[in-house]
Amino acid sequence: MLVVKKFGGTSVANKERIYNVAERCIEEYKKGNDVVVVLSAMGKYTDELIAMAKDINENPPKREMDMLFTIGEQMSVALMAMAMNKLGVPAVSLNAFQVAMHTTSTYSNARLKRIDSDRIRSELEQRKIVIVTGFQGINKFDDYTTLGRGGSDTTAVALAAALHADKCEIYTDVDGVYTADPRKVKNARKLDVVTYDEMLEFATLGAGVLHNRSVELAKKYGVQLVVRSSLNTNEGTIVKEDAKMEKMIVSGVAADTDAARVAVIGLKDEPGVAFKLFNALAQKNINIDMILQSVGRAGTKDITFTCSDEDADEAAKIISEAMKFEDINVNKEVSKVSIVGAGMQSNAGVAAKMFEALYDENINIRMISTSEIRVTVLIDEKNTERAMNAIHDKFNLGEER
Ligand code: ASP
Ligand code: MG
Repeated sequence: MLVVKKFGGTSVANKERIYNVAERCIEEYKKGNDVVVVLSAMGKYTDELIAMAKDINENPPKREMDMLFTIGEQMSVALMAMAMNKLGVPAVSLNAFQVAMHTTSTYSNARLKRIDSDRIRSELEQRKIVIVTGFQGINKFDDYTTLGRGGSDTTAVALAAALHADKCEIYTDVDGVYTADPRKVKNARKLDVVTYDEMLEFATLGAGVLHNRSVELAKKYGVQLVVRSSLNTNEGTIVKEDAKMEKMIVSGVAADTDAARVAVIGLKDEPGVAFKLFNALAQKNINIDMILQSVGRAGTKDITFTCSDEDADEAAKIISEAMKFEDINVNKEVSKVSIVGAGMQSNAGVAAKMFEALYDENINIRMISTSEIRVTVLIDEKNTERAMNAIHDKFNLGEER
């Protein structure tokens, strides 16, 4: 059996943690399995590199940032190989060049295109544990690239797909995927299984356990994932296509406080207005999430949308320069609360139940958006935790099934 194991920054933050990971990998190796390990940079090292760069040049070239970033992952793989060798097991570390992990050319946000598996295979044939740098790649100019923050998860899934691995385990500092953030909801429960689509919603909603591109990739290539803790031996959460076994309509509640609402009032009610507005924002790379347009009256209409807190003021400025309207207002004190569940596609009344939970708490809903497996409401930020708990209770998510 071939197993890919990925460990995040906290799992390799110091000497003791490095040895802990080394031992876990050796245990797998001693069962006779082939083991490929993907590592992130130690602890908050990537953040430290960014701070160092900004101290030299507040606007560093992206190519040089990637050159700098790659040392973080390179450091952890080399130290890990040393630890395994010290424990008497042959191990070899490889960076993106040595493996040959080909990506698109975009520095700091590259996408993996192709991974050569020859070098890894030949090292495995010599019964070595192979330790690969996460997050990094090389482009057609023979430069280093990186996959975007948190990109090591994507490296691991891509490697599992390229090597046709039997198992891909993502080790982190939490026990798995929860029905809600356990720091905010007391009776939050770890889920045994979630579907790719549910996980994708959770990842996109900022649950923080997995890089969303890694989930997309896992779904595309049918790589079954296990998310589990490197600090204990608890089972973790399985991410796979069909998770009907749990028979859950709603799997969890997620919240994102990094949301702002921009309301543009008194736009002309004529064709092309929405295009003009959102095109102006797209040109400046501003990501929009929920969108609401009012019914036209007296030749005018209103458009309201949400974006990140950071982008809100700039969005308002861009719109003011691009078009005519009566008034615009920005509210950053709002948050998005969502329920996610593959079972809601075939169940009526799920949204109503969520709204009832909010009504019971006298929490006003400012916007609503839905997908096949998600309902999201925009509410005042100060009500976020109360809303999460009320919804979590309403759907009995804390109860063992
Ligand atoms: N070290 C990189 C980061 O901090 C990649 C990763 O951890 O996945 O974003
Ligand atoms: Mg991560």
